Amino acid sequence: MKKNKKFRQLLDEAAAFHGHLCNGQIVGVRMAMCGLSELGIADPLGADRKKLVVFVEVARCFADAIMTVTGCRVGKRSFKIVDNGKVAATFLDMTTGRAVRIGLRTDLLEKIALRYSGLAEKVAEKSAYSEMTDNELFSAQEVKVLLKDEDTPGTPMTKVRCMGCGELVLDKREIHQDDRVYCPSCGIGQTYYTLQSEIPELTGRDFFNE
Ligand SMILES: [Zn+2]
Ligand SMILES: [Zn+2]
Repeated sequence: MKKNKKFRQLLDEAAAFHGHLCNGQIVGVRMAMCGLSELGIADPLGADRKKLVVFVEVARCFADAIMTVTGCRVGKRSFKIVDNGKVAATFLDMTTGRAVRIGLRTDLLEKIALRYSGLAEKVAEKSAYSEMTDNELFSAQEVKVLLKDEDTPGTPMTKVRCMGCGELVLDKREIHQDDRVYCPSCGIGQTYYTLQSEIPELTGRDFFNE
């Protein structure tokens, strides 16, 4: 078991934030520590807090651990999910443009099966994530990331009103059609929902104090 104090502390914090201690927290904390260490970012929650943007390639347990350790947040625009369904993440230092992508080694499953044969899959993975060295677990790549101006942290770049629904659209997400401007729903029908009906008035109840 990796027993160093910093790892234990971060793992506790990750489990508290995520809601349980799972393999995703173990591997996520370790991957985030590797990413920070490769970039030489020692104090992501303090002095270095504006340096880092992370791209996480799966929306699962693991993502929360990366969030905890790096301090990167969706609302700060420093935490991006690029859901490729892969346990991998890219750590970008905004001040230098240097980016390191870290993923699980492609031969990891075979290695785990060999070393922990006889153990149930989850138990074997837990042991591997806890005991293996960084180089046994992870592979790393130097990469370039194109981060558009409208995707960077900071105040919204643009703010326009959709000529269809009247709602505001931030950060260049609007669609231009001829000389009209729309939100993605009105412009190109890009929605995750189907409108059922308008709710004319909210309940107005003091629900949480009843
Ligand atoms: Zn979990
Ligand atoms: Zn609209």
